[in-house]
Amino acid sequence: MKIAVMAGDGIGPEIMAEALKVLEVLRRDGLNIETEPALVGGAAFDAHGHPLPAATLALAQSADAVLFGAVGGPKYDTLLREHRPEKAILGLRKECDFFANLRPANVFPELADASTLKPEVVAGLDIMIIRELTGDIYFGEPRSISGAKGERVGINTMHYTEAQIRRILHVGFRTARQRSKKLCSIDKMNVLEAMQLWRDIAIEIAPEYPDVALTHMLVDNAAMQLIRNPKQFDVMVAGNMFGDILSDEASMLTGSIGMLPSASLDASGKGLYEPIHGSAPDIAGKGIANPLAQILSAAMMLRYTFNLAEPASRIEVAVRKTLAQGLRTGDIAQPKELKVSTAQMGDAVVSNM
Ligand code: NAD
Repeated sequence: MKIAVMAGDGIGPEIMAEALKVLEVLRRDGLNIETEPALVGGAAFDAHGHPLPAATLALAQSADAVLFGAVGGPKYDTLLREHRPEKAILGLRKECDFFANLRPANVFPELADASTLKPEVVAGLDIMIIRELTGDIYFGEPRSISGAKGERVGINTMHYTEAQIRRILHVGFRTARQRSKKLCSIDKMNVLEAMQLWRDIAIEIAPEYPDVALTHMLVDNAAMQLIRNPKQFDVMVAGNMFGDILSDEASMLTGSIGMLPSASLDASGKGLYEPIHGSAPDIAGKGIANPLAQILSAAMMLRYTFNLAEPASRIEVAVRKTLAQGLRTGDIAQPKELKVSTAQMGDAVVSNM
């Protein structure tokens, strides 16, 4: 298993070091893991003048999976758009055709108080939101702002091909199969033709998965239901824009951005795995960032790209145990709780493995 390791900027290198400790435990116990580091984002721009140098892209393409930290920082905010660190993620997604974004939102019982919702609404929450990444209004043509000042018109186009819809829905059905066999497809078929097509295709391919219960929900209702009763959902699948919004909403149900991993997969299951948070420049270099989202990203990688459910749950169980022992980094600590450092949290997960 060849893993490209791209720590990136800000807290990226600090939290990646902890994820690598965890992978090292599995390697010593016999998993055939080979890791190779590469610069990406601002760090790559500083060294090579580009956020996604050719060698980094080549490594991503030749590896079986990419473990990614985070990129960006205030130092790079004034660069030309094509030199911004965030361009590296878009470049990797495009060049590797990572079209399916998987974002779990789960609440560890020990952290139910961190949510802004009542603990009984979120305790035990475990949902997976799948977002399409290559189509929709973010890429559709025509797109423009035109006309004279005072009469300007802004245009974007929701655009989906049947093939794009089909492949993301298949990811939805397959993921539901690995979990509790419930898939909720999100659309807005009541007003948008592109979303009518989405609904039609979902209904058309459902018979291929007789063991999965498919339901449909309009996106506005889904946004409400996620707040009202999020535990009714298991796997949700949505287009690029609706998935973008709903997955951020769902992550906030958990109340803790430092806990959530994500995956972006291609058609063969190869993927890029990263925390959902950014490079947290406000705390970078202090050794206080929460490494658990990065560690859980490594677990997701084992589960979804390498089909290694057992070592993946070994990591996840160790994380749960560490939280149950009361270890908290600053972002998840209650006011009176003792705070541990990034490295102490990583070491505790390692010893619990
Ligand atoms: P952010 O996610 O980096 O930080 C938001 C807040 O959450 C900050 O207060 C931060 O300290 C805290 N936080 C985030 N991760 C944490 C962790 N692991 N442990 C403890 N606290 C944590 O979002 P931002 O401040 O809007 O963006 C900072 C930079 O990151 C920007 O340059 C942005 O473009 C970039 N960014 C990158 C990615 C990515 O690499 N995928 C994603 C989002 C933002």
